Amino acid sequence: MTLGPEDHARDAAGLSYVYPVVSRRAEGVSLGVNLNPNNACNWRCVYCQVPGLVRGRAPEIDLALLERELRGLLGEIVRGDWLARHAPEGARRLVDVAFSGNGEPTSSPQFRAALELARSALGELGLLGRVKLVLITNGSLVHQKDVQAGLRVLAGAHGELWFKLDSATDAGMRALNDVAPGMARVRANLRSACELAPTWIQTCVLALSGAPPGADELGAYEDFLRAHLRESTPPRGILLYGIARPSHQPEAPELTRLPAAWLERRAERLRTLGLEVRVYP
Ligand code: SF4
Repeated sequence: MTLGPEDHARDAAGLSYVYPVVSRRAEGVSLGVNLNPNNACNWRCVYCQVPGLVRGRAPEIDLALLERELRGLLGEIVRGDWLARHAPEGARRLVDVAFSGNGEPTSSPQFRAALELARSALGELGLLGRVKLVLITNGSLVHQKDVQAGLRVLAGAHGELWFKLDSATDAGMRALNDVAPGMARVRANLRSACELAPTWIQTCVLALSGAPPGADELGAYEDFLRAHLRESTPPRGILLYGIARPSHQPEAPELTRLPAAWLERRAERLRTLGLEVRVYP
């Protein structure tokens, strides 16, 4: 099958843990690694697109199978004709290997081991530093030693981390992510993430019950960023997202996509803080 833009079908390649995606943000094919085949996450974002999402953590997975799948698909892409057979013209390049599954990847007990095997697979094909290794995370477990060890592996593989920050207020995090970690914890985890690996903030913006984020929310987010920009290792920038695909959460009917112009205005404002901002409406 040829994958269409944003075709995230986890079973598109018939594999258990590895799935190819034609990605608008990557302008090419991204190989996703799903360490959460049980659809379990410690958060419950209202816009989450994981069907049958449950609260919990990633299970033990079959690492040998993950390794076979990753090496096999990478080999077909790099040495075979996989891209010509499956990717549309204009997207026939491999841009990244992204740890981004049906839940929070850092909750996997094999998080570090999985990163190590991805680093080896990329290295053996001569792709290290040429194909990006990306960790897409809600950042909530960065304070854990095992997770930090994994982030060192990520950094050593020229990887980067995308840290979810949809709101910088307790009320906003409850409303959007259904969690209440406290902003002090979020701040500390973001600081650690930035110190351990190149880190981008990923922020999803939407209207809830018809209302876009209010002035208080937007102001708190900017204050939060200003504080982080004073750190010795600040974030690299912001990836500002709209909601591209339907939510699988009960709140789905209350969510509306914001106009692209809204996101552009927001990005302009955030750039004045001195950060690079990329927009994906
Ligand atoms: S952190 Fe990601 S996987 Fe978890 S609920 Fe939010 S969007 Fe879904």
